[in-house]
Parts: sequence; C-alpha cells; structure tokens
Amino acid sequence: MPRPIHATIHTAALRHNIERLRAAAPGARVWAIVKANAYGHGIERAYEGLRGADGFALLDLDEAERVRRLGWRGPVLLLEGVFEPRDLELCSRLNLWHAVHCDEQIDWLATHKTHQPHHVFLKMNSGMNRLGFTPARLRAAHARLQALPQVDEISLMTHFADADGPKGIAAQWAAFERATEGLPGERSVCNSAATLRHGHDAAVRGDWVRPGIAAYGASPDFPEHDAAHWGLRPTMTLASRLIAVNALQPGDSVGYGSTFVADRPLRAGVVACGYADGYPRHAPTGTPVLVDGVRTRTLGRVSMDMIVVDLAPVPQARPGSEVTLWGMAAGGAVLPIDEVAQAAGTVGYELMCALAPRVPVSVAE
Ligand SMILES: *Cc1c(COP(=O)(O)O)cnc(C)c1O
Repeated sequence: MPRPIHATIHTAALRHNIERLRAAAPGARVWAIVKANAYGHGIERAYEGLRGADGFALLDLDEAERVRRLGWRGPVLLLEGVFEPRDLELCSRLNLWHAVHCDEQIDWLATHKTHQPHHVFLKMNSGMNRLGFTPARLRAAHARLQALPQVDEISLMTHFADADGPKGIAAQWAAFERATEGLPGERSVCNSAATLRHGHDAAVRGDWVRPGIAAYGASPDFPEHDAAHWGLRPTMTLASRLIAVNALQPGDSVGYGSTFVADRPLRAGVVACGYADGYPRHAPTGTPVLVDGVRTRTLGRVSMDMIVVDLAPVPQARPGSEVTLWGMAAGGAVLPIDEVAQAAGTVGYELMCALAPRVPVSVAE
C-alpha cells in the first residue's frame, strides 16, 4: 500500500464557485485565474471544473500552451504580458491576449511581425506600485498602442492592493476612473475580494472580473468573512491516515524540540503528513485538523513526514482512521483551508500552491 497521503480536486466545487462569482458580478465576464498551475490544483485537473468561465488568465507561456492543448479556443490572457520580444510570436500563433505594463513591451510590439493584430490589456498602476503605467503616463501609452498596426484592441486594467481590507478600493478606483475617463475599451479591475464585495456595482465590476482564490474555495478576506459566508466550496482536500496511536502520560512530550508536553493522560495519533507534503511547518500546537471527520488539533512541531494529533475528541480513532488536513472529509465535514493557514501565519493561497509533488492527486466530481 502506498503511503496514505492524498489530495483530491473537486470538480463540482470549482464549477459551483465559478457560478457563484458570476452571480456576484452579473453581466461581467469571468476570467478563471490559473497561474501557479491553477493555484496548485494542476491546470489539467482543474480544467473541467473551470471551463464554465469565459477565459483563462495566467502568467507563463507554458501554462497558456497547456490551456490551448486542452482544447480551449476562447480568450487566454497573460497577466504580466510577455517577458521578451520573441514571446510575441507565440502570442500570435496561439491567439493570446497579453497585458502591457511598460514601455519596453510596447517597443517589442512595434517591431513584431504578425498578420494577426493583438488584443492587449493596458495596465495602470493605480497605487500598488508593482506593474503598470502611472496615471500621468497612461494616455501616452494608450496613444502609442493605438497607433500600432500590431494592435487591434486595447482593454484597460488595474489591480487593487486592499480590496480585502479596511482601506478598500476607493482611492485606487478613483485614480483609475480619472485616468481612463473617455478612453475606449473594456475594463477589468476586480480580483476575488473586489468581485465578491463590489461586483454588484456595475461601474466597478466592469467587463471582466479576475477572481483567483475564490474560485478555489478560499475566502479572500478571511477572517472577516469565511468561505461559507461567500457561498464558496473547498476545491482541494488534503487527506491522510493515522499510522500509529500512542498513549501519553503526564510529562511526556511530542516531536522535535519537545514543544508539546502532556499535562494529563492523552491518546495521540501519528499522521502520515509533514512539511515535505506541503503542510506548513510553522503550524503550531492547536492547528485544527479532522480525524474521522471530527475536529481536533495538532500537537507539537510538524516534521518532514509526520504530524501528531490529539485524539481526545475521537476515542474510536485507530491506525487507518481518516485524517483531513484541509478540505472535505468523507462524511462531508469541512475544514476550511483558511483556518489552517491562519493558524500557521499564512494564507490559503500559499498552502494550495505549496502542495508537494510527492503527494498523489486525483480528480473527483
Ligand atoms: C492573481 C491575480 C488575480 C487574482 O487574485 P485573487 O486574490 O486570487 O482573486 C487577479 N488579477 C491579477 C492581475 C492577478 O495577478
């Protein structure tokens, strides 16, 4: 028998989440964001669940080729645009839309030989200060693109830094509105948090929304709102089994560094899952976990291949009992990835993306 760790990608949940996001931004088209190999899910594994979206947005040309190979003929968008001039050849060949965020990318387009003019997404820096033209330089960039025979359609995009927090989108949204006023072209500004919080506002949702994390069933603004609040379902389950059960006496410690010490008799289960599987090493004692669908907690440090869990709430647990690290237990109980991430001082995004290559993954309806 192989080591019992296993991940499952839930196709029906992906489909549900895309529909949920579509309903949150009525009338807008929906990009399924599949960068980082579909947030760790695997593009090929997630494709069936995501193909109800209107397009696929990603970073790598390799990812774009994979989406085309799956048979997708609709829009594909490179969110960071091209990285060198010859990337434009593949954009022409595969009909990829691409972001344009700097003058060099316009220079490259100007010397690109193509029969098929490109659809570009001109990116504005509205305050995040990563990619994009400042408001002062946006119109000049737009004019340059408009004059190029290599370009036939220019959409406008920006990205919010605080859509999930108390600062909100107001200042960046106002900067974008002001700078793009009167310019023709479709608009795309909303990530997951903005789609869920502001998608009801026709002006903000624009023509295309770009939800990533919410499509994968995590809440973009946890802990203020959890995934259930937003009507999202987990799309990835990481599960394993108990491989040993120990009876601890008061004073017995658990794991490297002996950071957990029992203060009473305790049954402790050993789970075949560790940081080499993508489980966060920084998850402290008390991180939530399900055993046979019952919520309990981790004990001591996470090691490379094992973690230890408290079996007090699950007296019937034995070696072989099901352990859910995040996602959905066989009986339907859910452990939100956001809760595990929060305990470990990170976000659901990082846990999904860090699922280790040694973990076998299957796709379920
Ligand atoms: C990753 C990304 C998104 C999706 O962000 P989420 O917070 O996962 O919804 C949207 N737009 C751009 C440009 C991105 O890079």
